[in-house]
Amino acid sequence: MAEVILKDLVKTYPGNDSRATDEVSLTVADGEFMVLLGPSGCGKTTLLRMVAGLELPDSGQIVIGDRDVTYAEPRRRNLSMVFQSYAVFPNKSVADNIGFGLRVRGVPAAEVRRKVAWAADLLQLTPYLDRYPAKLSGGQRQRVAVARAIVMDADVLLMDEPLSNLDALLRLSFRAELKKLVGELGTTTLYVTHDQVEALSLGDRVAVMRDGSIVQCDTPTSVYDEPADTFVGGFLGSPPMNFLTGKVERDSHGALTVDFGGQSLPLPTSLTSYEGRKLTLGIRPEAISVDGLGSADGEASVRGTLQVLEPLGSAVLLTTEVCGQTVKVQAPASFRTETGTELRLRLPASQCRWYDPETGLLLE
Ligand code: ATP
Repeated sequence: MAEVILKDLVKTYPGNDSRATDEVSLTVADGEFMVLLGPSGCGKTTLLRMVAGLELPDSGQIVIGDRDVTYAEPRRRNLSMVFQSYAVFPNKSVADNIGFGLRVRGVPAAEVRRKVAWAADLLQLTPYLDRYPAKLSGGQRQRVAVARAIVMDADVLLMDEPLSNLDALLRLSFRAELKKLVGELGTTTLYVTHDQVEALSLGDRVAVMRDGSIVQCDTPTSVYDEPADTFVGGFLGSPPMNFLTGKVERDSHGALTVDFGGQSLPLPTSLTSYEGRKLTLGIRPEAISVDGLGSADGEASVRGTLQVLEPLGSAVLLTTEVCGQTVKVQAPASFRTETGTELRLRLPASQCRWYDPETGLLLE
């Protein structure tokens, strides 16, 4: 096992003006499960391929354990990779697929058999060891690809969207299996996905990427609860965080408030320097509670007009309009009311995040 340190990695592809990764630095602790998350084209795969040695950086440094491997050949890095396409060999049995890398390495046959049996047991593939991939389900094939990677005793496991070819149900069950397995193995893991649920569920930490840079790297709880900027808040969560922009003004009592265009919220005391300027409020749909008008008890609230009510089974999703801006609210499954109704939306101060509308950065 080993720590992975990435320092200022820059990569530009020929014919492409913008940097695929732009001075990316990241430290993955020994045994940590680090997820690289971000929209298509943000540079996740490029970063992973540089760690694997399949791409060389223009500048920067990659250290695995205590070795600088920036320009080392892939096979000298002691890592294993699982790709999205989980390319298993169709003409080899499951056992031969799993043991392939070990045999190439010249490991004695008895040891190969022992390790194949161990990995097959961990991944529940023992009954299929003599089968050929054509006679396996997608999930079983994917397990073969993972088994093939873990038998190698690598310092680092690299996975690029390994679940993306599985259907939704299989994905869900294999995600949990993978989490258990990697937890047991304790191998340092770098895992690429654009699926935020997968990232939050699997990662010890999640590095959220945008345009070749890491914009936030923290625990799943922190990136979800305290998005460092409006991009992260808008990328994580389904539906994502609500954003409402207003102007800081004094009300008739002389108190500073954020006015959204006829309705306002008290300004947090730490933001008084924003008097006269604009602020963006970020709040998660499930952090807002809703009731009829006239029952305010001092908690900050705004009025929202219900536009759409979508029953989702375990909850209902409300689309409301507050001063011309859309606010989504996740309400209890039993909540029903007519569209056009005016609702009181309670916004607990502890759940409100405030952002600079120009930079998009979290302010407190
Ligand atoms: P996805 O989730 O779609 O795989 P990603 O976040 O993994 O995206 P990368 O594949 O790393 O992103 O791509 C980063 C940027 O580099 C993109 O703008 C992409 O178009 C560009 N890029 C990637 N590979 C190449 C290549 N071989 N040649 C030229 N440009 C490339």
